Amino acid sequence: MLSVKEAREKVISSDVNIKTGKVPILESLHLILAENLVSENFVPAFDNSAVDGYAVNAVDIIGADKNYPVKLKLFKEDIPAGKVSDFKLEPGICVQIMTGAPIPQGCDCVVMKEDALKEGKDVLVFKECRQGENIRCKGEDIKKGNIFLKKGLKIYPADIGLMSSTGISEVCVNLPPVVGILSTGDELINIEEKLSFGKVRDSNSYSLAAQVLESGAKFRRYGTVADDRASIKKKVLGSLQECEILLITGGVSVGDYDYVRETLDDIGAEFVFWRVSQKPGKPFAFLNYKNRFIFCLPGSPVSAMICFEIYVRPLIKKIMGDSDIFRRKIAAKALEDYEHNETGTDFIRVFLEKKEDGIYFRPTGMQGSGILTSMSLADGIAIFPEGRARIEKDSEVDVIMFKQ
Ligand code: AMP
Ligand code: MG
Repeated sequence: MLSVKEAREKVISSDVNIKTGKVPILESLHLILAENLVSENFVPAFDNSAVDGYAVNAVDIIGADKNYPVKLKLFKEDIPAGKVSDFKLEPGICVQIMTGAPIPQGCDCVVMKEDALKEGKDVLVFKECRQGENIRCKGEDIKKGNIFLKKGLKIYPADIGLMSSTGISEVCVNLPPVVGILSTGDELINIEEKLSFGKVRDSNSYSLAAQVLESGAKFRRYGTVADDRASIKKKVLGSLQECEILLITGGVSVGDYDYVRETLDDIGAEFVFWRVSQKPGKPFAFLNYKNRFIFCLPGSPVSAMICFEIYVRPLIKKIMGDSDIFRRKIAAKALEDYEHNETGTDFIRVFLEKKEDGIYFRPTGMQGSGILTSMSLADGIAIFPEGRARIEKDSEVDVIMFKQ
């Protein structure tokens, strides 16, 4: 049986096909830019005022002071943002201007409104102004013809703002993969159905769909399928037409009705591995099928989610061309001693607690693979690694942070 490290290495070293395509800029958030973006205009496109105030000539107000204000004549019209005026400012005159409005000719600085006082047709200026003061220069943010966002960058909100300020409405990105989710099990019902004895609501396809969404990929839920080879085969082949990654939950263990592995064998999928020495999530398989990837996740709700975190998410990130494929890990100390079976890795759902001498962890409660509440409460997943039989009080382990 593979160790977690070996299994993970096999998954993330898979050859992936990064697809690129144009998307509207708002859909590019957190994706990787697949082209250099060059601006077709200057930003700002013209010199404009950074403040509400009076556009003046710096030489006209030399020496202006609280006690010795300089008096200037006020031009009859003002310049709000968006107004185009073609007059030229003459010496001794000033013009009222608003933030963002184009700087008129003949003016080389803007006095802030707070540093002046309007008196009828005159303005008293109480402060000197340097040449260029309170003027945003043409192209000071972005120069026309320059690359302002580089290929390979992860896109954040300010980048989308830059795209829009240069008139770009669509960008070429690494396209997120489509991840299909199929739940297998005779006992499963859809969440809207009335619960009858012996039945279980299909929660996996929802928690996994949410994990897929959170990873930045797109999900497609294929609902539930009974433990029946022909039905599984039909659903699997259908979904593989549409998805780059298929997640199948349940039916992958050694039970008499666990048909998933046989079915995948039938269709010619290639097993990279089956079973990993980990808890939860031991009966877990990874397969390749015609440039696609299939993960068989255990049916137990926590096992499915943890296998997603450890194996599926990094592969999705790799397909998206993200250089940062792993979650952040922190080192946390044990609050007490823990025994653990050293022949495998245990993933423990934990609370984190900050103390003066560091961060401590403590399990969130029952660790059964069906106890989803202890996953819901968890701040992270502590890794009790293979080969370490005891986790002693105050010793450190890695904790995978899967919440912000
Ligand atoms: P299996 O892996 O098929 O042996 O299922 C293991 C356990 O997980 C069983 O108790 C199932 O009822 C439960 N289970 C399987 N699939 C789901 C699902 N989609 N949602 C919630 N529980 C499930
Ligand atoms: Mg089952």
